[in-house]
Amino acid sequence: MSTLKAVRGTRDLLPPETALWNRIEAVARSVFARYNFGEIRTPIFEDTALFARGVGEETDIVSKEMYTWEDRARAQSEKTQSLTLRPENTAGVVRAYIEHKLGETGQLAKLYYIGPQFRRERPQKGRYRQFSQIGAEVIGPTHAGSESPLRDAEVLEMLATFLDELGITGWTLKINSVGSSADRPRYIETLRTALAPVVSQMCPDCQRRAETNPLRVLDCKIPEDQPIIDALPRIADSLDEASRDHFAQVCAALDASGVPYTHDHRLVRGLDYYTRTTFEFTHGGLGAQNALLGGGRYDGLSEAIGGPKAPGIGFAMGEDRLVLTLQAQEANQKAAPPQVADTYIAPLGPAQNPAALALARTLRRQGLRVELGDGTFRLKKSFEAADKTARSIVLLGEDEAQSGILTVKVFATGSQSKVPQTELADLLAGLRNT
Ligand code: AMP
Repeated sequence: MSTLKAVRGTRDLLPPETALWNRIEAVARSVFARYNFGEIRTPIFEDTALFARGVGEETDIVSKEMYTWEDRARAQSEKTQSLTLRPENTAGVVRAYIEHKLGETGQLAKLYYIGPQFRRERPQKGRYRQFSQIGAEVIGPTHAGSESPLRDAEVLEMLATFLDELGITGWTLKINSVGSSADRPRYIETLRTALAPVVSQMCPDCQRRAETNPLRVLDCKIPEDQPIIDALPRIADSLDEASRDHFAQVCAALDASGVPYTHDHRLVRGLDYYTRTTFEFTHGGLGAQNALLGGGRYDGLSEAIGGPKAPGIGFAMGEDRLVLTLQAQEANQKAAPPQVADTYIAPLGPAQNPAALALARTLRRQGLRVELGDGTFRLKKSFEAADKTARSIVLLGEDEAQSGILTVKVFATGSQSKVPQTELADLLAGLRNT
C-alpha cells in the first residue's frame, strides 16, 4: 500500500516551528488589542455566492482557485447548496457584520481574525494551497467615521507597529489609490483605449486581461512588458477631487506619524472590492512571493453582498510568509534555542509511576516544563532520554517518594544533589538562566 502524505500545497507544522507561529499570533493579539480590536471567528466554508459577489467573478481567486463543491441535501427540508472553502476572510467578516447587524451600534466594528484560507494555486516557496492569514477590518456606517482617511492611516500605522514589535526589519510599504467606484470605470476605459494599439505586443496573459479585467495588466511581472506598462496612463490622473483629497489626507497622516511609504501607481491588487486606498507591505528576503501582506479600502463591499452601506478598510497578512521572514532573519543572527524541558522525572520502577505523575503535576502547576519518563525504563535509558529532552533529571525511587528528598542531576554542570521536594521548583526554574 502506498503511504499517505499531506496533500500537495498543504503541510504539517511541527514543533519547534509552531512556537514561532504562536509568538507571531501573540504579538498580533497584543498589538491589535491596543488599537481596540476584538477577535472574530467565521466559518471555514461559506455559500459560494458570497465569494462570487464579494471578491468578484473575474478575479483569479474566484474564476480558478476556489475549492467549491455541491453539498448534498441530507433531508427533504434541505437544498443542495454550492459551498466553498474560504479563499480569504474579508467577505466572511463583512457577511457576519451584516448578519449580526453590527452597524446598528452606531460605532465602528473593529475585528481581527487568524486562520486558514484555501486557494488552488501553483505551490512554491511562500505560496501554499492552505495558508494562514492574520487580518483585521474596520467597518461601520459613514456617520461613525468609517470613510475617514484617518482610519486608513491608523491601520497602516498599526501594521508598521506590528512588524516592528515582531522584529521584522527591512519591510517596504507601498500605497496607492484606485479611486471610488465612479473613478474606476473611467480609468478602465482610459486603460482599454491606451492598451488597444499595444496589447498585441504583450504576453498572452496580458492579452486576456486586457479583455476581461484591464486593471490586472498593471500586475504583470513579465520583464518585456514593463516598458509598455510604465507608459500606460496612471490611475491617479483619473481620480476625482474627493478621491484625490482622501488619498492626500492618508499620506499627510502617515507623514505625521513617521511611517515610511512609497506611492506605487501600479498597485491595484487582486480583489475587485477595493476602492480608494490600496496597500502592500513587501520584504526583500521572501523571493518571488515577496508580499507580506496586502489590503485596502472596500467602501462598496457590504452593499455588494446585500448589506447596508458600510465602508471599511482592512488587510490580510500571510502568516506563512511572516514565519519565513523571521526564520531567515534568525538564521542570520543565532539559531533559536531548542525547546528543552526543565526536568525529566524518572520513576525507578513501575511502582513509582503514580508518585511520578503526582510530582509532575505539582511541578507543572508551578509553571515548569516537565517530561515524564516511565518506570519500566532502565536507568541508562532514562538518562539518555533525559539528556536529549531536558536540562535535568529527577530520580524518584521508593526512598525518595517516602522521604520527599529527591535526587537531581543537572546536565550542564554534571552535579548531582539531594533536594527536598519543596525546594525543587525554585532550583529547576533557576536552571533556565544558566
Ligand atoms: P490577498 O488575500 O491575496 O490580498 O493576500 C494577502 C496576503 O496573504 C498576501 O500578501 C500573502 O502574504 C498571503 N497569501 C496570499 N495567498 C497566499 C498563498 N497561496 N500562500 C501563502 N500566503 C498567501
